[in-house]
Amino acid sequence: MAKQTIFPNATIGIIGGGQLGRYMAVSAKQMGYRAAVLDPVTQSPCGQVADTEITAAYSDLDGIRQLAEISDVVTYEFENIDYDALNQLKEEANLPQGSELLLLTQNRETEKKGIVDAGCEVAPYRIIHDEKELEDAVDVLGLPAVLKTCRGGYDGKGQYVIKEKGQLQEAAALLTHGTCILESWVPFQMELSVIVTRSIHGEIAVFPVAENIHKHNILFQSIVPARVDESIQEKAKVLATTLAEKLGLVGTLAVELFLTNDGELLVNELAPRPHNSGHYTLDLCETSQFEQHVRAICGLPLGGTALLSEGMMVNLLGDEVDIPLEHPELLKEAKLYLYGKHEVKEGRKMGHMTFMKQLDDEWMTNITKIWTERDGGNGK
Ligand code: AMP
Repeated sequence: MAKQTIFPNATIGIIGGGQLGRYMAVSAKQMGYRAAVLDPVTQSPCGQVADTEITAAYSDLDGIRQLAEISDVVTYEFENIDYDALNQLKEEANLPQGSELLLLTQNRETEKKGIVDAGCEVAPYRIIHDEKELEDAVDVLGLPAVLKTCRGGYDGKGQYVIKEKGQLQEAAALLTHGTCILESWVPFQMELSVIVTRSIHGEIAVFPVAENIHKHNILFQSIVPARVDESIQEKAKVLATTLAEKLGLVGTLAVELFLTNDGELLVNELAPRPHNSGHYTLDLCETSQFEQHVRAICGLPLGGTALLSEGMMVNLLGDEVDIPLEHPELLKEAKLYLYGKHEVKEGRKMGHMTFMKQLDDEWMTNITKIWTERDGGNGK
């Protein structure tokens, strides 16, 4: 079943109705597929463009069954699908991506182990169940270090950076959310990411390496190609390909990396789906990460990943969504993506812009200033 090619006119079912689902659906529809989405709210970013909307909780087995029934293939943009729902999907739907990689990446403990078992490096870490283990781990790893919940965290949520021992008790509050992981703080010169796709037939394609700049732990800018030696970019691509092969990837995997001050690449995090840092591919690559994902799960040949232009993606978070209206001149050199979210919340990903141009230092400073001024305004 998993090797079956799915041809246009078939329906692709998407679990999760956010912006990742939205652009999966747009790509699917461009290629002649139909799109169905399951999301807890109606008229979600994906629901607005899908042919069919199923409004149900991610754990609602009836909703999952309904999606499986109308879909020729099911994929996801939401990572925290629970175990029962996944089992039901495995039984009742065509889920070529399977559930193993999703389960592995749902928990930072199994994710780290999977990365290390694949032969890749991660920051030194310890698994923490209680305060005593936290104290012992700090003695071994030293400070600064970052404590993260093993499950459920994203965009810096569920994390505490410990700079001195006096903060241990406050950090330990995270343990009320379950098992945590303490990681050494990595002195990195740059954060990078690589999006890799593997089709149901085993074909692999890797996108150009992005340089990612975060603000308040949320992605701010992705610059492509990353401003590092080609040898490092090549190493990052090989690493992503190795992970794709060793972890039995089907679909899309985002690999987030630290380039350390010593020039080493450490894997920070994996996401088994298209990723915010791959949005630049919508305009700057021969094939977007979303189209590639659709091709991969449907068993079509993968598209080219060559960079058509260098450039930069900038997120529109919270009330930054007003920036393109306040600075219409930006639209002359950028493509605008708004996700159709009805409510603006601080830090919420409302949209992004992609600039297709060579980035010189003066231009970068001016652009960054526009965002930084607003950032000061809303206290993020
Ligand atoms: P994460 O949710 O694990 O991707 O972390 C969000 C951001 O926090 C990363 O993109 C980094 O900027 C920062 N960060 C997380 N873990 C570490 C670490 N061990 N060392 C340095 N920075 C980190």
